[in-house]
Amino acid sequence: MLDKIFNSLVALTYPQACQICHNSVENLADGVACRACWEKTNIFSGEETSCHKCGATLQSKTKNVVTFCHRCDEYFYDLARAAGKYEFALSASVVHLKREPFAAAYLQKLFIARFQNLPFQDATKIIPVPLSKKRFLERGFNQAAVLAKILSKNINLKLDEQSLRRKIDTPMHRASMDNKARETSVKNAFEVTRPKLVEGETILLIDDVYTSGATVSNCAKVLKEKGAGKVYVLTIAKAS
Ligand SMILES: [Zn+2]
Ligand SMILES: [Zn+2]
Repeated sequence: MLDKIFNSLVALTYPQACQICHNSVENLADGVACRACWEKTNIFSGEETSCHKCGATLQSKTKNVVTFCHRCDEYFYDLARAAGKYEFALSASVVHLKREPFAAAYLQKLFIARFQNLPFQDATKIIPVPLSKKRFLERGFNQAAVLAKILSKNINLKLDEQSLRRKIDTPMHRASMDNKARETSVKNAFEVTRPKLVEGETILLIDDVYTSGATVSNCAKVLKEKGAGKVYVLTIAKAS
């Protein structure tokens, strides 16, 4: 942990190379990517044509019509949104967040601003997608909890890191895994340890990246089985 803090301090003190193009990052607030790489990154404004439920980008150009991709029909959460596409500066930031419990100021700003423009304002508590105990001990922190804490502090919403637990150490999701494999790997991986704390709550579930949606759907499933009302999902990036 001390090493991690030290490395974060070093990164704060010295200009570093952009993780994507290797030019120098001139503004510390930009974190691991330079301004040009941030500008190349697709940050969602909410004006895109996208699936109303999972937020997947859709081709249709019809404006102001509620559209669904239908691939997410079976998922247990109500709505899922991301700050932007998993590419350039956002993918580099997500990768970095798995190594250091630190989110750059610009990333924090994007994440908070995205929340504020979403129909998630009736959420009553924030829950980060948990890591298994084994993974938590290996990494020393939960990157979803880092994001959840930032949001909780800025929007003044209760943070609950206790009620949801990942009881099975699922293998890391790899790019080569198809959606079926991802779904199988997280099925029954979660449990609610304190049902009283989720009953009747509208939950904002936080994760770093939305890939197939299987992980957050399984979290939403167990939360709803224990009496949670709506479950919203917010991630930094959306990979599909
Ligand atoms: Zn760059
Ligand atoms: Zn969808």
